[in-house]
This record gives sequence, structure tokens and C-alpha cells, in this order.
Amino acid sequence: MTSRTAIVTGGASGIGLAISRRLVGDGTVVAIFDVDGGAARDAATEICTDGGKAIGLAVDVADRTAIDAAVTEVRSTLGPPAILVNNAGITVAGPFLELTAETWNRVLAVNLTGTFDCCQAVLPDMVEQNWGRIVNISSSSMHSGVPGMAAYVTSKAGMVGLTKVLALEFGRRGITVNTIPPGFIETPMMRDSLSKGVFDMDLQVAKTPVGRVGRPEDIAATCSFLVSEEAAYITGQIIGVNGGRNT
Ligand code: NAP
Repeated sequence: MTSRTAIVTGGASGIGLAISRRLVGDGTVVAIFDVDGGAARDAATEICTDGGKAIGLAVDVADRTAIDAAVTEVRSTLGPPAILVNNAGITVAGPFLELTAETWNRVLAVNLTGTFDCCQAVLPDMVEQNWGRIVNISSSSMHSGVPGMAAYVTSKAGMVGLTKVLALEFGRRGITVNTIPPGFIETPMMRDSLSKGVFDMDLQVAKTPVGRVGRPEDIAATCSFLVSEEAAYITGQIIGVNGGRNT
């Protein structure tokens, strides 16, 4: 792929970092948007040391003004974005009757409205180029639900719906929109959930047909293909990367 510009949200850690590294390795110029600006800049520096081109920007995807300012900076420093990976996400676990409106709203604001805002901020550039790729990182939890994760699972199911609508609206403009729902990938987020007892590692591995925990690179490889030229006929799809399990 020849120097298209990509934005990866939540790209300073875990799955987003692996995607950023992979896209730079593919020859893409990457802007990492992360709420932790220092980590975003460090990740970009590390990628650049390896010979690629990347920048890191402090962006809370729940803040539309910050998104718009960052996209403007990407346009002027790297060129118009043609690839968007909506990966930033947060998870909160607890019984439904104890879920506060504040927590519900924050999870929806980051995971779902953040995806909506990033898509709306970047799609005009894709329309202008008559080419675009959006990959939304949802979650395998949206297939079956997970007790105690109402806000998270609802936000991820919403991302799937948004993916399907955007695929229909923008298909004739050379823009594809797909979602990868990862299943149990070893990242800081997953390690945090394990330490809080939300998941049991051995049980999760036992439920996974390929018999191992997923790696961020497993998601990055699929994302790399979905944003490629060759994936032009794939849109509106849910591409599970979950070791063979659907929950
Ligand atoms: P992670 O290691 O926690 O990485 C998420 C990144 O997003 C972090 O750098 C985080 O920054 C950043 N972020 C959080 N809130 C943000 C915001 N408001 N604006 C911008 N950036 C923000 O998690 P991960 O496991 O790689 O997860 C990546 C995505 O995959 C998430 O959407 C998650 O729901 C999804 N997913 C993961 C798994 C899994 O098994 N790991 C399974 C299914 C789905 P801070 O660290 O500073 O908060």
C-alpha cells in the first residue's frame, strides 16, 4: 500500500498499538489518537525509530472538539486520512442494578459516540478521495452478552449496527466499513479484567477451540487485510477473530 494516511484511536496500547505497528509496516502513515498523549507520542516515536512514519496526538474520543482539531492536524501534517480504525475503548464491570447513569454514559460516550464522531470527522476526506477504509473494533461479547457488562456490550453491539449502516451509505464512494469483534486478547485491558476477577484465564482458554489466548497481532493482521486494496469487495461484515469461539 502506498503511503495512505491512517488514524488509529486508542493506538498507544494493546490491540491499537499492534494495529499501528502493522499498518506502518505495511507502508501506511499513521496518526495515533490516544487519551494518553505521552503514550501516543512514545508509541509513534518507537514506530518511527523502526523506519516508519507516525505521529501521536492526545485525543479523548469522547470529545468531538478534540477529534476535529486532531483530524485538522493530521490533514496538514500527514495528508487527508483514508483509513480509520476505531479501537479506543473502555470497559466497566458490575451488576446491572448498581450501574450508574454516569458510568453508562461514559462507556457509551467513548466506545460508541466516539466511533460515530471519528467516522463523521473523517468520512468527508474519504469521500473526497473516493476511497476509504473504516474498521471498528467491537467485541465478541456482543454475540452473546456477558453478565455484569451491560454498558460495554451495548456499546459494542451499537458499533456493529453503525458499521452496517455506514457500509450501505458509503459503498458507492469506494469506502468499506467492517467490524472486527475480538475475543479474549492479551492486552493491558484484559490483564486488568483478569486481576479484578472478571474473567478466569484458564476457563477462557478452555472455551477457545484453538486453545490459546489471542494476541494483539492476530487482530492487527486481519485489520491490515481489511484496509488493503484487495479487501475492496468486503464491506458491512463482522469478521470474528476469536480462536473459534463466539462469546
Ligand atoms: P487497552 O490495552 O486498554 O488499550 C486501549 C487504549 O485506548 C489505551 O491506550 C487507552 O488509554 C485508550 N483509550 C481509552 N479511552 C480512550 C479515549 N476516551 N480516547 C482515546 N483513547 C482512549 O485495551 P485493548 O484490550 O487493546 O482494547 C482495544 C479495543 O479492543 C477496545 O475497544 C476493546 O473494547 C476491544 N476489545 C478487546 C478485547 C480483549 O480481549 N483485549 C476483546 C474484545 C474487544 P489508557 O490506557 O490511557 O486508558
